[in-house]
Amino acid sequence: MKFSKLAQVYDRIQQTSGEPQKSKLLSKLMNGADPKTLEAIVHFTAGEPVDPQMTDRLNIGPGTIRAALAAVSGKAESRIDDEVKRAGDLSEVVFHYADGTDKLTVDGLWEITNHTVKRNEDRIGLIERVLTNTTPAGAKYFTRMTLNQMRIGVGMGTLIRSIASAFNVDADIVERLYVLTNDIGLAATRAQLGEKALRRADLMLFRPYQFMSAHKVDDPQTIFDSLPGKKILFEVKYDGARLQIHIRGKRNPEIKCYSRRLNDDTAAMPDVVAAVQKAWTGGDAIIEGEVVAYDKTLKKKQPFQAVLTRLGRKHDIEAKAQELPLMLYLFDLISHNGKDLMKLPQIERRSLLQTLFSPTNRVKLSDGMTTDRIERQAKFFERAIKAGHEGLMAKDPDATYLPGRRTDRWMKLKPEFETLDVVVVGGIYGTGRRRGMLSSLIVAVRDKDTFKTVGKIGSGFSEETLKELTSKLEPKIITARGSRAEIEPGMVIEVDFQDIQKTTAYASGYALRIPRFRRERIDKSIREADSISRLKRLYEQSHR
Ligand code: ATP
Repeated sequence: MKFSKLAQVYDRIQQTSGEPQKSKLLSKLMNGADPKTLEAIVHFTAGEPVDPQMTDRLNIGPGTIRAALAAVSGKAESRIDDEVKRAGDLSEVVFHYADGTDKLTVDGLWEITNHTVKRNEDRIGLIERVLTNTTPAGAKYFTRMTLNQMRIGVGMGTLIRSIASAFNVDADIVERLYVLTNDIGLAATRAQLGEKALRRADLMLFRPYQFMSAHKVDDPQTIFDSLPGKKILFEVKYDGARLQIHIRGKRNPEIKCYSRRLNDDTAAMPDVVAAVQKAWTGGDAIIEGEVVAYDKTLKKKQPFQAVLTRLGRKHDIEAKAQELPLMLYLFDLISHNGKDLMKLPQIERRSLLQTLFSPTNRVKLSDGMTTDRIERQAKFFERAIKAGHEGLMAKDPDATYLPGRRTDRWMKLKPEFETLDVVVVGGIYGTGRRRGMLSSLIVAVRDKDTFKTVGKIGSGFSEETLKELTSKLEPKIITARGSRAEIEPGMVIEVDFQDIQKTTAYASGYALRIPRFRRERIDKSIREADSISRLKRLYEQSHR
């Protein structure tokens, strides 16, 4: 199937309103596709131009596309910039100037993008190749896909339902395989083989599943009220980065580490790999833990930001690992010797995990205890805070592992006021000392596959942080008018605020009052940013 044909269908989907109609168009397309084409179609529709394990390595921003478009069209980059300012959309300008011949196929494009990123080949060359080998509409959707802005009104839910109806299988089972592998292409090709094959598919080594998340509670009594009569498992909530670790083999096992964004971050943490190899005594397994940065002597815990300087690092890895060693606190066992243990009660998973490794100075079991008494919980909480940890996790001892879900089988208890993890979608250049830097950031919450603005953050950052954020955000600028820039959603930041108000000034219908920057959450993808429903819930809670 030509990529141009897929682009035509996207145009029709965009123009169609109503989920059933959109879904019908997609199902029809999938129905006649061979497995390779099908895999590519669903990834592209989800806005994934490469294997989801490699999204962090894609490295294509508006600047890269602009440079490639200039090369193939012979137009100056400044001219393209002006056009983008006028049209307000880079993909429309690409549509206008690209003039390729219709050769590229859907599966061919999937192969080229993955190949380029895996071998770290020239990105501008890749885009030039695409723009010269597909129609203007194909070039437009390729642009949108790489900028993570498909804007055809198809979220993951619609995509899953379209796959289910194309192959006459149960949508819940498609979704189950998706959360177990974080690979919608794989879920679709299994669905194509029929319901039996789909049901048989399970967790896979070296395919990260989506993490289970926790609800935040403000008052420990809520925890005891929601789990009456249970001896609740309390664990220290470490202030680091979560890892999913896949282990294969007995001696010197092969190990891969996936962070929150479900990207393969193994290369950045050779010390963690070596530490797990040394401590692990079990068989093939998938385990979870939190890595926390320490000083060289392993005595002094370092702040959360220190972990971030280790994740996703490409240069000076060994030196940084010496300077900021990571300590791993294990807290869950997801599979062992090929057996999926998600259905096992939480407390049993923890006991079994404990028997499968020998603690070392680098790998430990998370500090935990079980109790049904609030006073014991309070003492444990106090101890955790004094030791510089974030708070406690409370886990239902009977909880099964629920991948991809935020439930109250896990609850988190922190001492501070609420914060929100929001997505940067725009910025405003400063004046005076902040000239040349983005001095305010326009932020948004997630609403299915779109982002709705909720405020403007102008304080809480040092000059140095602002400089760093500006240099990261500038390559992501889609359009700039005067001092205001629209930015491709990609960066998640944590903000605090005094209150939430209703307003028509922002697209979410709410505004954060006195919002302040706290930190960048490079461990989170935009899909994991806070949603509009959490924002509404917070508003209701504080205005009761
Ligand atoms: P937060 O901003 O509070 O870390 P989050 O949205 O990143 O929240 P949640 O699943 O809601 O993630 O909260 C639990 C997080 O706490 C995990 O993602 C993990 O990184 C961290 N954590 C630290 N210690 C533990 C532990 N003992 N058990 C589970 N998670 C832990």
